[in-house]
Amino acid sequence: MNSRLSLALASFATLLIFSSTSWAQEEGSSYTFEQITDNLYRAATVSHRTVLLVTEEGVILTDPINQDFSTWLKQEIDERFGVPVRYVLYSHHHWDHASGGSVFEDTATFIGHENMIGRLAAPSGDVALPDNAAVQDVDGNGQIERAEADGAFARNFDLYDFDGNDALSGAEVTRGPVNDVQVPDITYADKTTVTLGGKSAEMVFTGVHTHTDDMSVIIFPEESVGFMVDYISIKRPPRFLRGDQPLETWLDGIRVVETQDFDIAVGGHGSYDSKNYVTLFREYIEGLRDLVAAGIAAGQSLEDLQESIYMEEYKDWISYDEFRESNINDMYNMLTREF
Ligand SMILES: [Zn+2]
Repeated sequence: MNSRLSLALASFATLLIFSSTSWAQEEGSSYTFEQITDNLYRAATVSHRTVLLVTEEGVILTDPINQDFSTWLKQEIDERFGVPVRYVLYSHHHWDHASGGSVFEDTATFIGHENMIGRLAAPSGDVALPDNAAVQDVDGNGQIERAEADGAFARNFDLYDFDGNDALSGAEVTRGPVNDVQVPDITYADKTTVTLGGKSAEMVFTGVHTHTDDMSVIIFPEESVGFMVDYISIKRPPRFLRGDQPLETWLDGIRVVETQDFDIAVGGHGSYDSKNYVTLFREYIEGLRDLVAAGIAAGQSLEDLQESIYMEEYKDWISYDEFRESNINDMYNMLTREF
C-alpha cells in the first residue's frame, strides 16, 4: 500500500473516532472538514461531499453544493489557510451539487463541461409538464402555481421559477431547480488542466451516459486523488439505475475513470477508499445485470427476482440492504425497455 493511501485510510479511521471534533452546526446541518492527503481536503454535508486542493496561491474547489454550505466553507478555508478560492470545478450541473457557487464569484473562475451551458440556459419552448409535475396542476392550466406546488416542487420553487412569475412552466420544470447554479466561465470538451500555485487538477469528460451528458471526473495528480459524483459511489450501490441512455453508456463512463492514474477515489456521496472500488462498483452493476438478465430469460417475474437475488459479496456496502430491491427493479426496467 502506498503512503498516500495509508494516510487516507488512517485519517478515515481518525474521522470515525474523532468525528465530533470537526463538526460545525449551522441551520440544523452538520458540516465536516477533513484532510485526505498532504494538500487535499474533503468537506461535506450529511449527504454531499466536495474536495479542495490548497496551494500558496489559493484553492481549487470542486462542487460548491449549496449557498449555506459554501458560506460556511468560505469562512473555514479563510480561517484555516488564509487564501481565496480561485477555481470552482463542477462535476456536473445537477442542482444538489452545483448550487451556491456565487459565494466564491468575487475570486473564482468557474469551469465545467461544455454541455453544462445548455443545461443551465433559460428555459424555452412549449414543453408539457412532466408526469410527476402534471399531477400537481390542479386547475389544469399547464403550469404549477406556487399554491399548487407540493413536495420537492414546493421546497425548491424559487430554484425552478426562472422568470419569477410564481408559476412553473413545463420548460422550467424540465430545466430543473438550477437557478442557484453559477454558469461556468470556461468550458471544455474532452479534457482540461487547471494549474495554480505549482499544483494542478484535471477534468476529464466521462461521455454522454445514463446520469447526465455533462459529467466530469476531476483528478488531482500530485495528490493522486480522483473525485467522482453520482454515477459512481464508493462502497455503496447506486441509489438509482435510470436514465435515457443504455446501460452500456454508464459502464463506459466508469471505465473512463478506471483508466485515469490515481490511487484514492472520493465520492460526491458516501465514502472514499482505494481506486479499486471504482472497478468493484462497475462489477456490481455488471453482476446485477447478468443476474437479472438470466432471471428474465428463465421467465422469472420482477417479484421472483427481488426475492431470489442477493449479492453476498456486496452485503457490507453502505445501504446494500436498503437499495437491493429498488436496484433489482431499476435493472429490470432498464433491461426490458427500448432505447
Ligand atoms: Zn447528479
